[in-house]
This record gives sequence, structure tokens and C-alpha cells, in this order.
Amino acid sequence: MEKTAEVVIIGGGIIGVSIAYHLALKKAGRILLLEKGQLGEGSTSRCVGGIRTQFSTEINIRFSLESLKTFKRFKEEFGINPEFKEVGYLFLATTESEMDVFKKNVMLQKKFNIPVEFLNPSEISQRWPYLRMDDILGGTFCPKDGYAGPSEVLSGFVAGAKREGVKIYEGKEVTKILSAEGKIQGVKTKDEEVSAPVVVNAGGPYAASIGEMVGVQIPVKPLRRQIFITAPFRLSAQTIPLVIDFHRGWYFRQEIDGLLLSGPLDSEPSFNLNTDYEAMAEASENAMYRVPVLEKARIARGWAGLYEITPDHHAVLGKVPEVEGFILANGFSGHGFQHSPAVGKLIAELIVDGDAKTIDISSLSIERFEKGDLILEPMTAFKE
Ligand SMILES: Cc1cc2nc3c(=O)[nH]c(=O)nc-3n(C[C@H](O)[C@H](O)[C@H](O)COP(=O)(O)OP(=O)(O)OC[C@H]3O[C@@H](n4cnc5c(N)ncnc54)[C@H](O)[C@@H]3O)c2cc1C
Repeated sequence: MEKTAEVVIIGGGIIGVSIAYHLALKKAGRILLLEKGQLGEGSTSRCVGGIRTQFSTEINIRFSLESLKTFKRFKEEFGINPEFKEVGYLFLATTESEMDVFKKNVMLQKKFNIPVEFLNPSEISQRWPYLRMDDILGGTFCPKDGYAGPSEVLSGFVAGAKREGVKIYEGKEVTKILSAEGKIQGVKTKDEEVSAPVVVNAGGPYAASIGEMVGVQIPVKPLRRQIFITAPFRLSAQTIPLVIDFHRGWYFRQEIDGLLLSGPLDSEPSFNLNTDYEAMAEASENAMYRVPVLEKARIARGWAGLYEITPDHHAVLGKVPEVEGFILANGFSGHGFQHSPAVGKLIAELIVDGDAKTIDISSLSIERFEKGDLILEPMTAFKE
């Protein structure tokens, strides 16, 4: 392995490889990406690929719109089809307070020219007749939302980064970050050392333990989310959107011939990657409640992955005041996949130009937690 680099990236998930690619595009010098296992083996391989513009904060909407540009031209830029399916996202409200939040969200989203519609119950039941409607007060739908393939997008970034000269190593766990007088000096693996003035933490759910290597407390906790897939099931001849039953924190969408059902999100942090019967039962009950015909469906398989959650469910991005050269790209909750193109671009701008120019990321700095400047969302019931 190389002994020196301009930038070392810790973590070969979608965030690390996007940063590597964008740094290389900006000719940032020798870039080294170190992954402890295999590329994408963390949250990225367990992600369900959702891409939406229907966010409730300006910063997340800006990240989505910027990232969408990459998803739309992905094939031309990377030579790989990202399998982006614009099936739309349908959010369903069952309480008056949810309706108020949805109305505020739509007003905000329309400011960004997002083609989101506010729908009443009869419009919803006409378009998606398989949904149980007796408790639905309304919903929002954006036809431009959808989902893409995490492994396709990962492969695109990896191929692009390698083509631009990034050195990528698998099976290389960073065990120590070297620093002196408040400045990054490099990293150590079990048997090698690399000196570098800039180290990027792209460790996903492991962000906090990587921060500890250099004495920085990063408030990112791993929370397990389980996902279940039904055996082949024909629900409708029409395109099925990704439907979010907001109150229940539950969603479903098509997955090849079957349906993908979200299971619960744990409330206690852990690195547990098992699926369990209770979660499968909960996912099935939510499914049969909202889509009664699914009582005829059968769960075929499932998996679990880790969300990386911060206290305000927004990412932690950028420099760390106490350690020069240590850059954070962490805490993406359940939307790090869809925001990975923008994150890569912004972190590359920050490292090479000294500032993220495309989007102002100062509100996502780690200092907000100490200052109490948390980003408030109108309602946090649903965390994709
Ligand atoms: C069930 C589930 C569904 C999801 N659905 C969506 C969705 O629909 N849409 C969406 O946008 N997002 C979704 N997400 C979130 C998304 O998967 C993550 O936000 C995203 O994958 C984070 O990427 P990452 O690169 O930061 O982390 P990871 O993919 O976890 O990558 C981090 C990498 O760092 C490596 N690493 C850690 N420590 C070290 C070390 N010391 N040395 C070297 N390497 C190290 C790990 O092995 C890992 O490969 C979902 C997540 C889950 C769990």
C-alpha cells in the first residue's frame, strides 16, 4: 500500500466511494480509500434505494435536488445503468396534525418547483384502489421520486474513482488515526501506516468509533431497521409507488415480482444485524392493515441493516474545529444513499477549495450539537 497520500478516506460504502470519485474529478492528488471488509458491505448493501424530493427541511431538499442531477445522467457519466425507477412516493396522513405537516411540507417543496401534489382521500382511492382508506385524511404524491440500485450506483462510483486514479483497498481496517498538535498526520492499519494531512470519516454506523480514534465525540448511533420481501405477488397492473403510512412509520414498494415491506426501526442502538419474528409480524400486520389483499401474501425473506442516527436526524458534515484535516461525512439516517452524489461533491469542494460552494453545509457542522442549533423538522414520526 502507498505510504503517503493527500487524502485518506475511511470506509468504502456509498459515501466513501462518492467522495473518492468527486475528489479525483477535482484533481485532489493521491487519494486512498481503505475499507475494512468489502466495498459496500455496510449499510449500503442493506439499503432499499429510495430517492425522494419530499423532505421537510430545506437542506435535505437541496441535497436531493443536487443528487438527482447525478442519478439522471448516471449512465452517461459512469457507463452503468443505476436502475432508477421513477415510481413516485405517496405519503399518507391519518391525523389532522399530520395533514398540517404535509401542507407545510408541500408549500416548502413547491418553493423548489418540486412537482408534488396534495391529494384528497377520493383521489387517492381512485388511483390506488388497493389501499385501505377509512382512516386516510389525505396524502402527498411526487411522481419524480422513486428508487435505484445501491449496488449499481456503488459500482459506478467505484469504477469512476478507479478510472480517475483513486487507490482502493479492501480488507484494510484503520485502527488508529495519527495526529499531532491538533493536525491530522495519517492513519494506521494493523501492519501499515500512511501519512496524509486529510482523513475523511466515511465509516457509516462506525462513525463514532472512528471519531474516538482522534478524540472527537460524534453523536451518531447505529439503529437497526428490518426489511421483508414477499414471495411473488401481483398487487396491481399499474405502477406501484413507494407508499408511506406516515403514522405507522411503515412503507412498501414493489421489489421485482414481490413487495418490499419495511419492518420496525429499533429505538436502542446496537450493531445487531439479525431479523426476528416480532419484526416480521409487525411488518405483516402493517401491510395487511393498509393493503388488505396482502393477507394472501407470504414473506419469503428479510434482512436487517443499520441507520446512522444523529440527535436531529440530519447528517454531520464538514470540518472538526479541534482537529485540522479531519473531515466528517456521517449520520445520514435513512437517506445516505440518495444524498451520496451531493455529499461526495460537497466534501470534495470543502477539501480542495476550502469551502462547499454548491450548497451551504454550515448548518450540518458538528458544532451545532454543542451550540444547541439542532435542525428542527415539523414532525419526526417517519424516518426513512
Ligand atoms: C434497511 C435500510 C434501508 C435504507 N433505505 C434507504 C433508502 O431507501 N434510501 C436512502 O437514501 N438510504 C437508505 N438507507 C440508508 C443508507 O443505506 C445509508 O445512509 C448509506 O448506505 C450510508 O453509507 P455509508 O457509506 O455512510 O455507510 P456504509 O455503507 O455503512 O459504509 C461504511 C463503511 O465503512 C467501513 N468501515 C467502518 N469502520 C472502518 C475502519 N475502521 N476502517 C476501514 N473501514 C471501516 C465499513 O465496513 C463500511 O463498509 C437505508 C439503510 C438501511 C439500513
